[in-house]
Amino acid sequence: MRCWRVVILALALGFPGGGRAALERVDLLVTGGTVVTMDAERRVIENGAVAIRGSDIVAVGPTEELQRRYRARQRLRADGRLILPGLINAHTHAAMALFRGVADDRTLEEWLRNYIFPLEAKHTTAEFVYWGTKLAALEMIRGGITTFADMYYFEEEVARAASEAGIRVVAGETILDFPAPDFRTPAEALRYTQQFIQRWRGHPLVVPAVAPHSVYTCSAETLREAAALARRTGAPLLIHLAESKLEVEGIRKREGRSSVQYADELGLFEARVLAAHCIWVDAADQERLARRGVGCAHNPTSNMKHASGIAPVVALRAAGVAVGLGTDGVAGSNNDLNLFEEMDLAAKLQKVSTGDPRALPAREALALATIEGARALGREQEIGSLEPGKRADLILLRRDAPHAIPFYDVYSQIVYSLKASDVDASLIHGRVVLREGRVLTVDEGEVKRQAARLVAAVKESLAKKP
Ligand SMILES: [Zn+2]
Repeated sequence: MRCWRVVILALALGFPGGGRAALERVDLLVTGGTVVTMDAERRVIENGAVAIRGSDIVAVGPTEELQRRYRARQRLRADGRLILPGLINAHTHAAMALFRGVADDRTLEEWLRNYIFPLEAKHTTAEFVYWGTKLAALEMIRGGITTFADMYYFEEEVARAASEAGIRVVAGETILDFPAPDFRTPAEALRYTQQFIQRWRGHPLVVPAVAPHSVYTCSAETLREAAALARRTGAPLLIHLAESKLEVEGIRKREGRSSVQYADELGLFEARVLAAHCIWVDAADQERLARRGVGCAHNPTSNMKHASGIAPVVALRAAGVAVGLGTDGVAGSNNDLNLFEEMDLAAKLQKVSTGDPRALPAREALALATIEGARALGREQEIGSLEPGKRADLILLRRDAPHAIPFYDVYSQIVYSLKASDVDASLIHGRVVLREGRVLTVDEGEVKRQAARLVAAVKESLAKKP
């Protein structure tokens, strides 16, 4: 009798020898890799595993332990690989992929006035944005990005293209005080944004946002209305802030305060704000950004390429600001959507600007691209680290290329040695979107054909330029 009780108890608790019936069921078990969790303890688990049910992570731990606890419908072997949280591109204009390299090595003003604004007026259509975003999604998924924050036009197409590609997006229609490719007035763009938020709210992959372009291209009234819409709907607010010296000097001359103080006093920071760049911010601005819970998106390549300056990332973080990492758009600000490059550059820029090689060590640079990026976006409860209860957004990295050998420190290897091309699998929301380097959710041939057609038209208008 007693013997039976022990057996029944063993079955119920799933003890070894308790039989397979006691194992908990999961959909997918990723096993045998080095798990870099980016959780609060920054745990790294050798021969680790991640158990996934539906869209969520159920458990993270040693492979042996998880195999004892779970029976998986499917298994993904990560032998010899790193298992990382998916990377978060905290600032981009994805569809600009079709303008890649169109006008490099020019001043910001010349680039915008003579190239980007005229080209966008002529070519940026709903179709252009849809295929441009698909091309960007292909590049980002291949490079380990699982979430991106986007500010562009025809944002409905961005949401559609991203959700079809299976990549997570925080999408904001750009609001401007001068005519944009899709709207003539800020009132029209605000109305569109409101409907856009209603349509996409609650979507598993798409978070609709409010995106006034900047404090120098939007009037005080437009900025106030954008903030009110974000507050009313609970949508995040994306904006460019303190990007150039010209901007902050202009605002100081006109308003008698810094860009950050001006934005705050307009009520912008009542919303959940992710501000791109934050380069020209003094100690008072940094303290204000921290106190008001504003997240920043640091874009090292873009800032270097436009010669905008170096964001004080170390000081911002010391003040308590969450800093994410972005690529910005690829039409002049950058030429690729590659967060491995941005991590590497972010770390090195802080070293050279502070004169201290200990500034922003590799582990912290990886944090910017993962958990801190999630915090800057206000989504740290869902993404940014490998922890039970979060969405299953994770990537696998090969470490057998010559540039990956040998390795002594896992964070150094990721930030300073590994490349976007080392990513060979990716899961977003529990779905495998990349396997053995191939994107499963996008017809790559079709995207390339459509891109070639749209780019031919851009080249034609460039050839006609006087
Ligand atoms: Zn930008």
